[in-house]
Amino acid sequence: MSLDPYRPEPIETFFDLESYEALKNALAEVRGQFGRHYPLIIGGEKVETRDKIASTNPSDPAQVVGYTSKAGAPEADAALDAAWRAFQGWKDWSQEARTRVLLKAAQIMKRRQRELEAWLVYEIGKNWGEAAADVAEAIDFTRYYALSALKYKDGAPVVPFPGEDNAAFYIPLGVGVVIAPWNFPLAILTGMTVAPLAVGNCVVAKPAEDTVVIAAKLFEILEEAGLPAGVANFLPGDGAEVGAYLVQHPRTRFINFTGSLEVGLRIHEAASKLSPGQIWLKRTFLELGGKDGLIVDETADLEAASLATVQSAFGFQGQKCSAASRLIVVDRVYEPLMERILNRTEGLVVGPADENPDLGPVASAQQENTVLSYIEIGQSEGKLALGGRRLEGSGYFIAPTLFEGISPQARIAQEEIFGPVLSVIRVPDFDAALEVANSTRFGLTGGVFSRNRERLERARREFHVGNLYFNRKITGALVGVQPFGGFNLSGTDTKAGGPDYLLNFLQMKSVTERF
Ligand code: GLU
Repeated sequence: MSLDPYRPEPIETFFDLESYEALKNALAEVRGQFGRHYPLIIGGEKVETRDKIASTNPSDPAQVVGYTSKAGAPEADAALDAAWRAFQGWKDWSQEARTRVLLKAAQIMKRRQRELEAWLVYEIGKNWGEAAADVAEAIDFTRYYALSALKYKDGAPVVPFPGEDNAAFYIPLGVGVVIAPWNFPLAILTGMTVAPLAVGNCVVAKPAEDTVVIAAKLFEILEEAGLPAGVANFLPGDGAEVGAYLVQHPRTRFINFTGSLEVGLRIHEAASKLSPGQIWLKRTFLELGGKDGLIVDETADLEAASLATVQSAFGFQGQKCSAASRLIVVDRVYEPLMERILNRTEGLVVGPADENPDLGPVASAQQENTVLSYIEIGQSEGKLALGGRRLEGSGYFIAPTLFEGISPQARIAQEEIFGPVLSVIRVPDFDAALEVANSTRFGLTGGVFSRNRERLERARREFHVGNLYFNRKITGALVGVQPFGGFNLSGTDTKAGGPDYLLNFLQMKSVTERF
């Protein structure tokens, strides 16, 4: 095959008139398509159910972006059935052929880039830059896994042994279930789906209930790319109902999940139980929460640190598991750093996502409630320095919020909030900063702003997180560049977008022939 090597897509900023106009037009066009209905897709067939899921615009919840059918247990059974049937063919496709289908899908996404961004703006309240990053990451995942899959096609080297022919090669696992989050509703759903597909597995994918329309778009694209019927099945439904049913099902071979710690633990437990008729140990890949800390010491570039803090804490309203939710500041630079951060945060515009503000709405009424209840807890645990309230408007708008004087063990310094709330912790020196940074159950991302080489080297060894960043923001891992995944209760450290990710969905077979 003659293929361009993988390189991450540039992320559009919309500073030039052409891309600006293109997204404006896409927003108008997509708006004209609001309220459509998208069926389930099972074995290539479009399946309607009586129950529906309505997906609304968090900037204006009265607007229904679209509807999907809603799967229950019978549809889940049918989808697993269709996927296992499709598996009999798909597993034997040549790797080159599977790679080509996915590269084609990436190309279609690229062609529909502005339109996909527009759906994300409306369906989950991403501003334009965040929507562009989500779509670029979906394209990246698809290309990266499609190309990475080629490296497993010839198996693994084994040591020669006299009188025998020995070989070790990889085969796919079978049919897995993908349960995706709403916060990167295109990128993460795409990544968790196409990776197992790339190496010959089939999947049943359940998108988050809040983002079923963008998920339906992914399935349109996979179909157009020529993915055979049944290889990927689209099954929106209720997580506690159809998600749980799929997880415990004896015919589910693996579960690829990104979401909350609470749900992840339930999946972990349910998947470990043998269901009647089940003949394998289920593999689970669980990418869960974070309580990510950013350290700023007295040698840091404070201007750069303040910018990175604001980007990391408030980008997409803080609804990233990689978001900075604890700022750990060394005493000597506390005042000047906070002054800069407060100034920057005060200048942030919050509003409807299609107007491209700095912050859009939080995802849903439920999310708004959670964030507001943590803000209330914060009032009793420290001093509210900024924000701390819901803003005017029908959307779920919350002011970017900073709490000072927070103790490292406070609830708002320990529990994942998943919203625009930053807890600031003041410490005497770098030693204390590192200790505080590590004093959480999570271990996803972290950062250090410092000009001290020895400290950076120490943090490299001792700051216990899956993704550590020095002197930059701690969000926005790029596929293939920063393999992404966390330690401790942040998950199974599966490292999405990493060089070994596809091995999760393969098993090795060793064959020996005595001559
Ligand atoms: N990969 C994203 C980042 O680096 C975060 C993914 C998530 O929030 O689940 O910012």
